[in-house]
Amino acid sequence: MTITGITLQDIYLARQTIAPIAKKTPLLKSTPLSERVGAAVYLKLETVQEIGAFKVRGAANKILNLLPAQQQKGVVTASTGNHGRAVAYVSQQLGLNAAVCISERVPRNKVEALRRLRAEVVIHGQSQDEAEARARQIEQERGAAMIPPFDDPHIIAGQGTIGLELLEELPQIDAALVPLSGGGLIAGIALALKSANPHIRVIGLSMERAAVMYHSLQAGQPVQMPEEATLADSLQGGIGLNNRYTFRLVQQYVDDIILLSEAEIAAGMAYAFLEHHLVLEGAGAVGVAALLHQKIANPGNHVALILSGGNVDMPTLLEVTQEYQKIGD
Ligand SMILES: *Cc1c(COP(=O)(O)O)cnc(C)c1O
Repeated sequence: MTITGITLQDIYLARQTIAPIAKKTPLLKSTPLSERVGAAVYLKLETVQEIGAFKVRGAANKILNLLPAQQQKGVVTASTGNHGRAVAYVSQQLGLNAAVCISERVPRNKVEALRRLRAEVVIHGQSQDEAEARARQIEQERGAAMIPPFDDPHIIAGQGTIGLELLEELPQIDAALVPLSGGGLIAGIALALKSANPHIRVIGLSMERAAVMYHSLQAGQPVQMPEEATLADSLQGGIGLNNRYTFRLVQQYVDDIILLSEAEIAAGMAYAFLEHHLVLEGAGAVGVAALLHQKIANPGNHVALILSGGNVDMPTLLEVTQEYQKIGD
């Protein structure tokens, strides 16, 4: 049933492939949120993955599908965030070399986190673009395999394994609320859920500040936008002007995209911390934020929120929590 050739079968294959490396994550019912919105609300805890985010699923599926000869030449990527960590972690587990290219402006703590995962950190240039150019050079020089963050069939199928877990644990599911940036996560989940029942609603959540997929859909084609600082830093970045898969999958399968303000995202983080003692980064908290602020019309009776990641620094989390307690809700 798909326009891009990626099928439900690919997602089942991915599940088998990644089982040794990525966790099946818990689904927790949120009593306070359920009472608040008058529906059964469930939280999918991708925060408990070893690297603190779901991206290990896609990275594991991509790297494990490389031919052995290719694996031996190593892998390369240019992401500093959760994708970079995921590539480093999977490579470490498999005993492969991972080169992660970053610019000189990336903060020390992120560099240290990558080094702890025994990645080869290649510091180059002043911007993400320059780091990407260096990654492509390494791809050429060494024959290393480039691991893209979202626009790739194996990455999409890997993230889609979350959809299979939702269907099994919550077959009544009416809607899934999914953080959205490049669209690998939502494309995979939508493919799984819509294959089971096209009436299950899949809703994307982005920040108001430079929501590139949202504006690309409005324009009918991928657009470029300058990045803006946001609490949901894992949702920053473009979708690629030559996007091959995720733009069309989002166009076809995603029912709606909701944009959230910084204050709403902050409230989502604070609420999850205070009510559930869950540490969420901004990107991981957009589902909670959307429900708290009644942004979803008719979510249905059974709603799942994908809590995609928890990599936030403590001063930020404490600050938004104190602020939230001051204003109340
Ligand atoms: C990467 C990421 C997302 C967005 O995933 P896409 O596949 O780029 O849409 C959401 N949340 C977290 C925590 C992430 O690391």
